[in-house]
Amino acid sequence: MTHVDVEIFKGRLLEMQAELVELDSISKSSTETVVLDQSSVGRLSRMDALQGQQMALEAERRRKQELLQIKAALLRIENDEFGYCASCGEEIAIGRLAINPIALRCVNCSD
Ligand SMILES: [Zn+2]
Repeated sequence: MTHVDVEIFKGRLLEMQAELVELDSISKSSTETVVLDQSSVGRLSRMDALQGQQMALEAERRRKQELLQIKAALLRIENDEFGYCASCGEEIAIGRLAINPIALRCVNCSD
């Protein structure tokens, strides 16, 4: 992979990272609102609120996981390992990385 390509992916990964961090702070404030409202709402809407909170927690868990994958990809860029399959060591197709810059494996090795 050329230096230019790596710089493009690094930029995209940093953007993705910033977006996730921002989403995380927005969702944190909405989760807090749910907790504050609980004393004043009825049973049904409280269940709705709890369900919403569960979904928010699940989304948060997924965001954390994605953030870790982005950090790992950025680390691979630093170590000149970015773009190579973690299983077979072959170059990952650039089209695949364009769709998913955090892809760890080539098409052949992915499940
Ligand atoms: Zn592979």
